[in-house]
Amino acid sequence: MDPLYRPQGVEQRWQQIWEEEGLYAADPDAPGDTFVVMHPPPNISGSLTIGHCLQLSLEDTLVRWHRMRGFNTLFQPGYDHAGISTWAAIGRTLAQEGRSQRDLGRDGFDAYVQEWLERYGGTIMSQFRRLGASLDYRRTRFTMDERYYSAVMRWFVHLYERGWIYRASRIVNWCPRDRTALSDLEVEHEDEDDTLSYVRYPLADGSGHVTIATVRPATILADVAIAVHPGDERYRDLVGKEVVVPFVERRVPVIADERVEREFGTGALKVTPGHDPTDFEIGRDHGLPELAVIGPHGLMNDAAGELAGLTQEEAGLRVLEWAAERGLLEKRENYRHSVGHCQRCHTRVEPLVMPQWWVAMDELAAPAIAAVKEGRVRFTPERFARVYLDWMENIRPWCISRQIWWGHRIPVWCCPDGHLTVAESEPQACAECGSAELRQEEDVLDTWFSSALYPFATLGWPEETPELARYYPGSVLTTARDIIFLWVARMIFSGLELIGEEPFADALIHSTLLNPDGRRMSRTLGTGIDPEEALEPYGADATRYGLLKVTSSQDPRFSFGTIEEGRKLANKLWNASRLLLMAGAVAPEARPSSIEERWILARIDATRAELDADLAGFDFAHGVERLYHVTFDDFCDWYLESIKPRLDEEDVRATAFAALEQLLKLLHPVMPHVTEEIWTNLPSRETRLIVAPWPDPQPAFAADLHALDEAQTAARIYRRSGVRIEIGGDSLRIFEAVVRPTGDGQGDVEAERGRLRKEVERSERMLANEKFVANAAPEVVEGEREKLEQYRAELDALGN
Ligand SMILES: [Zn+2]
Ligand SMILES: [Zn+2]
Repeated sequence: MDPLYRPQGVEQRWQQIWEEEGLYAADPDAPGDTFVVMHPPPNISGSLTIGHCLQLSLEDTLVRWHRMRGFNTLFQPGYDHAGISTWAAIGRTLAQEGRSQRDLGRDGFDAYVQEWLERYGGTIMSQFRRLGASLDYRRTRFTMDERYYSAVMRWFVHLYERGWIYRASRIVNWCPRDRTALSDLEVEHEDEDDTLSYVRYPLADGSGHVTIATVRPATILADVAIAVHPGDERYRDLVGKEVVVPFVERRVPVIADERVEREFGTGALKVTPGHDPTDFEIGRDHGLPELAVIGPHGLMNDAAGELAGLTQEEAGLRVLEWAAERGLLEKRENYRHSVGHCQRCHTRVEPLVMPQWWVAMDELAAPAIAAVKEGRVRFTPERFARVYLDWMENIRPWCISRQIWWGHRIPVWCCPDGHLTVAESEPQACAECGSAELRQEEDVLDTWFSSALYPFATLGWPEETPELARYYPGSVLTTARDIIFLWVARMIFSGLELIGEEPFADALIHSTLLNPDGRRMSRTLGTGIDPEEALEPYGADATRYGLLKVTSSQDPRFSFGTIEEGRKLANKLWNASRLLLMAGAVAPEARPSSIEERWILARIDATRAELDADLAGFDFAHGVERLYHVTFDDFCDWYLESIKPRLDEEDVRATAFAALEQLLKLLHPVMPHVTEEIWTNLPSRETRLIVAPWPDPQPAFAADLHALDEAQTAARIYRRSGVRIEIGGDSLRIFEAVVRPTGDGQGDVEAERGRLRKEVERSERMLANEKFVANAAPEVVEGEREKLEQYRAELDALGN
């Protein structure tokens, strides 16, 4: 073994060996309980971020832990075609050459996208490998591969036959730049400064006026009513009367509707069903017309008459001028409000009424709500179950059609007579009139319509494959909180609908990494961290360790500090192993003859039990802290230093190798490469560590778990104050071997006692403070209790 551990090269070598030896491979015919993680397929439109690395690290830790515990494990890789995201990314690239997607034509675009896929798909998979993620790469799937495509077609036809898919004109979020509809979840809301204009609508009978407040005066042209709240005394007498809409001078009714916010503006709402989602719903319920004065380009359309072709701002000013000239403009004031933007291109979203394809959600949502309420799908942290349920319980129809060319094309064909034929593959003739002149729907499906099938389409559904039988339902899904609705919810309802079972038992919502300044990481803002900045200098093991270490909160800041700590841990472990090997290899076997040998075996076993509990509860941060402590402090600093004088004894070395073996096993799921590299250097190796059995409980030495307490107390006191307390026997021997005291040991005992008494008092006061105990994090309170115990023990040892 080299004197210094260098991850560069070693890690790549093991990644290659594990994969070539088939150790990542899932075998549906092999025995064992199954453990299945479907890695969320990253978008084909880019490369991995440090956030992806965090997600992979915790998934791979779980996967390796289960694999060693004998589970039949599938860790499924794949990538997503990411409809609008890829479409927009390609659009940006083409724009630099002065071209657009639509300039290429549909076929030209298809060819272009194929090249794009080959470039990015390869990058993503090599980044997965680089982190040591033990995915079964042979099974890599793509949401647009042939089998996946047919699964999506089956899903569409299934929903259509159920009567839940329909085409209808409803209001949608329209991106004027991408020229496509977006689902509510693809819209980002940002606060913007705007102007609120108060405009008077004269009553048709000449008896006065109603004033409304609007940020979009151009839409006045499409007003079809004024609505007030039925309980609003101010307007009670007006309901049923008519007003005249400014500029267009159209008579429209005043109606009452509960959805009107009394506190906004004047409490009277102009109703524009063609350009506002709430107004659209009010309009449908009251049977109002849906006028449109804004076109798909976001400009005023022909229905706007003399204002046609103007921007909304220009048109709005013209309308306000008109009103001002007639004394109908009451006032204008500054107003800050939330405005929807396209998630992909940040253009302001235009609500427009247009024909689109929809999925009715009520019947799909009901069982998916029950699944979470009844605990068949558990969220970690638990509070996200509420987030999920709130959305599911208020779900609206899902707009699934997109006016782009990248995605699964809607499997609906139309004949010249307008009959629709819905089929999984291209039909020969119209199902209704037999016409062979069929034209396929131009639109493609929402990306998430296909991602929803990921937990089973990757396993071969709708065919009844051995994989589907064995690996569905899966075990744990990890994801970021921003796609609970987009993806998690949709996998749950589609799994229940198509297979009758929830796709996974646990939804783990992992931390979202912030950059070191506490800002959101974003590639476009230049605030992201490139994974290579960590992987290249520190290696994958240290990166994995460092990322897991910060996951105790939901929004941790990324820091190279914890990664550096991981690197130190790998080095320490390497040096300890090297020391043992240089003393002489011997077959590992626990034959402890001294107290520190029984103690380390007990410590490792206790850590195993604690780590099992941490991982089962997805508490990765505490898990890695424990591993650090048992390796650095217990194994290296105390145990190895104590036995050093006896390393020439074969029994001592046999026990040491046995203990090291156990330790390597515990560390492997988090730091797979360095542990495998050491393992392969140990004597009498038959298997790879990646598939070595997880340590069994070893109660034999449990009684000696605290055997070093006395020596450790003495060490703490001595290192702090130079005072040596009276100890004898093994404690003295171990103390001297580890601490190697110098000097006469005659520190100031009284000063040390005084200091400790103060610490005990302080700690007791803190723990007596009910507010602290009730409000501080449980681990902080627990830590304080441990400290108090330690101070008391030290005070006792000093003869109080
Ligand atoms: Zn857009
Ligand atoms: Zn027909």
